[in-house]
Amino acid sequence: MPDTNIISQTHLIILHMFQISGYTFIRNDPVQHLLPTRKLSHLPMLTLQQQIEDAAELLQHAHHIAVLTGAGISTESGIPDFRSPGSPWQDNPPVGYKAFITDAEARQRYWQTRRNLSAQVALAHPNAAHYALVELEKMQRLAGIITQNFDGLHQDAGHLPERVIELHGTSREAACTLCGNRSSMSELQQRIDAGEIDPCCPLCGGYMKAATILFGQKVPDTALLPAKKLASTCDLFLVIGSSLKVTPASMLPHIALRREIPLIIINLQPTSIDHLADVTINQKAGEVLPRIIALLR
Ligand SMILES: [Zn+2]
Repeated sequence: MPDTNIISQTHLIILHMFQISGYTFIRNDPVQHLLPTRKLSHLPMLTLQQQIEDAAELLQHAHHIAVLTGAGISTESGIPDFRSPGSPWQDNPPVGYKAFITDAEARQRYWQTRRNLSAQVALAHPNAAHYALVELEKMQRLAGIITQNFDGLHQDAGHLPERVIELHGTSREAACTLCGNRSSMSELQQRIDAGEIDPCCPLCGGYMKAATILFGQKVPDTALLPAKKLASTCDLFLVIGSSLKVTPASMLPHIALRREIPLIIINLQPTSIDHLADVTINQKAGEVLPRIIALLR
């Protein structure tokens, strides 16, 4: 059994040698096998322009691209990340599913936080990164978008709804926790504003909440299965604004990598799988994605 650390160090030395020489690179893969791949643009000696050009080169050869977006793309539209300063959850930690179902006071906290969040989402507009993805769709290179966001900004930017898989649901609709009956969130908000403090389903009496996934709630197969299928059929996987810390979204790039297709990660912070990516760019998506797309022909 080979020593993993030795293999890892050997990989790095080889990678740097190839990086300097400008030849084809080898993916530094902790699964203990060497995979042929393209340049590793996450290596620090590359300039941002080189990283952008490398990403564009990979995208140029792809025609069935899967995109995974996380909170990072929406923060550029003014919607706070769960962890970022100014988030409505900073003072009120998110209510979990079990608490929502069993605790009337938790439901009160939930609706109070939602009121603040809804106001921020209502004011938000798609940013340059959202529109750059629309350009990718117009070029007929985009197979689909899997998003961890529930703000609807991809659809606002112009994507067909069927092109967007909302892993964590949508905050634009409300859903009954018992029968699944849906209504628009604005309709439910009107009921709350009119004095209802614990809105229930008109069909079955179950508690209503936004049609989003709470902590402790499973991502439904209606979203997860198409997401997995997209990851297993795409010819390039592009991560934008996700720290890849939340499952099941975090496992999707690994599904794609089993077929040794290119992986590009654009995220302000490093992720745990940057070493598996062909290109990693730690910048704002709204600033670099339009530059990448502009290089495509
Ligand atoms: Zn119901």
